[in-house]
Amino acid sequence: MLTNDQLAQWDRENFFHPSTHLGQHARGETPSRVITGGEGIYITDRDGQRMLDAFAGLYCVNVGYGRQEIAEAIAEQARELAYYHAYVGHGTEASITLSKMVLDRAPAHMSKVYFGLGGSDANETNVKLVWYYNNILGRPEKKKIISRWRGYHGSGLVTGSLTGLELFHKKFDLPLAQILHTEAPYYLRRKDSAMTEQEFSADCAAKLEEMILAEGPDTVAAFIGEPILGTGGIVPPPEGYWAAIQTVLKKYDILLIADEVVTGFGRLGSMMGSTHYGIEPDIITIAKGLTSAYAPLSGSIIADRMWKVLEQGTDENGPIGHGWTYSAHPIGAAAGIANLKLVDKLGLVGNAAKTGPYFLNALTSALADHPKVAEVRGEGLLAAVELAESGNPLTLFDPAAKKGASVVAAMARRGVIARAMPQGDIIGFAPPLCITEAEVDVVVDATVEAVKEVLD
Ligand code: PLP
Repeated sequence: MLTNDQLAQWDRENFFHPSTHLGQHARGETPSRVITGGEGIYITDRDGQRMLDAFAGLYCVNVGYGRQEIAEAIAEQARELAYYHAYVGHGTEASITLSKMVLDRAPAHMSKVYFGLGGSDANETNVKLVWYYNNILGRPEKKKIISRWRGYHGSGLVTGSLTGLELFHKKFDLPLAQILHTEAPYYLRRKDSAMTEQEFSADCAAKLEEMILAEGPDTVAAFIGEPILGTGGIVPPPEGYWAAIQTVLKKYDILLIADEVVTGFGRLGSMMGSTHYGIEPDIITIAKGLTSAYAPLSGSIIADRMWKVLEQGTDENGPIGHGWTYSAHPIGAAAGIANLKLVDKLGLVGNAAKTGPYFLNALTSALADHPKVAEVRGEGLLAAVELAESGNPLTLFDPAAKKGASVVAAMARRGVIARAMPQGDIIGFAPPLCITEAEVDVVVDATVEAVKEVLD
């Protein structure tokens, strides 16, 4: 066992952390936390501090920590067959079974699932498939992808481009050409405060149509969006948004990719976010909740009408030139099967549908009237509290004041982990789907105390 101080030193000297201020971390200026265990919705760090994780890691540990059923399934798979590839028609019992379980939970018009490792590579796959699809259909110009400002779709070259957050572009020479961004469906921050939600949705759809027409409909291949904006601020869509957007996409024969990395498998209180909001996607991206992060696994679920074209493509051109060594990794697949069984057995989708509104009501009644709270919002077990100098008219804090991060730090001192969302003073919540009402009360109390400590 390493001593704590040695671990901290090795960490600073050797470990390149993702999404971290590298200089501050290397110099030891920022707090770091080494996690050693987890049980239910709690994690424990090396100093023995127990914290309630109200963000489920990175909104992924949906079944909660320490689930022995999943650990056993992983161990059994590793003992029996740790790896075999899925190229040229190979499979394992686990990967085939999981593909059936995923399709059983997806909207009826979906046909096949391709397995990757994480949300970023799944969206990378999706863009390639969209391009391939249009080449097979003899539309080589139809290649641009429209994403939204504040959308989050990963941090690779194409996926970091799709992501509509400045931090993910700045100094990386992104976004790449072919990737465009349209208006974020962020009602609180609409420019015209007189607009109703319906009017704002119609306006977002009109802006999308304007962009398509300006670019030329024959050059626009797909639109990608999360059913509810996640990392961009946890913002449920305004009323009528998805219906209005889909009308435009259908008009110009543009594919729809629903990025359900966060919303897939129960987070909104429905099995999939697409069904929750009446979205009929051509591709659905899944990851986090597929294994509850017990092993890395993602997927691209392909609609029947698109699948037929992919088949035609390989009839004309030979095998599809796309695959990772670890596609459909058996250990990930075994984790996925055990995880989805547990989601069913524990009734976690139903719990999100019931406990989510309890959480939102409790947050709203405790905080909505606070003068520095501009909005309390959410859907299922995703929620956010947005802080501002004033809610009406909306006047944001100076970002340099870091009010959101200060509230999250004050919550951590009370033993509750929330997430300071990366763009705005927004406190994000996405607890494991097994959270109880009593545990929700703990989260709400810590949030209220922290908001008062920082802002009163
Ligand atoms: N898509 C969405 C909606 C996400 O929230 C994320 C990650 O948070 C990703 C894609 C990228 O997934 P990953 O970090 O596994 O690459």
